[in-house]
Amino acid sequence: MSDATKSNLLIILRGAVGSCPSCGARKLFGSRMRLSGKCPSCEMDFDGPPGHWVGSVGMNTILCVILLLLTIVVSTLLLWPNLKVIPMLLPALIVGFVSPIFLYPISQTLWTAIDLVIRKEK
Ligand SMILES: [Zn+2]
Repeated sequence: MSDATKSNLLIILRGAVGSCPSCGARKLFGSRMRLSGKCPSCEMDFDGPPGHWVGSVGMNTILCVILLLLTIVVSTLLLWPNLKVIPMLLPALIVGFVSPIFLYPISQTLWTAIDLVIRKEK
């Protein structure tokens, strides 16, 4: 694995855990859900060009769909072969309503990390 690949993987992993993709600093959000301004440690500018945050909304959608599909698969496996609608629907509804809110901060740092890797490659 080359140094550039390792570095890109590290940037993505930092973003996936809600840290600054550039330096790994934590506590970027405070009480707000929105990542904006600069990193308190490395001063990376989180506000990219106009439309930058559309990518984080897309990332949030992708993560929520993956989590929702996992919930449906797990509930199907747990209830097999006596599948019933309500026990399968209830966890899926809870995940469907809670995960977009819960995953939004991580979606922002993950999208910022992907954007940083893409810009680095150019
Ligand atoms: Zn930083």
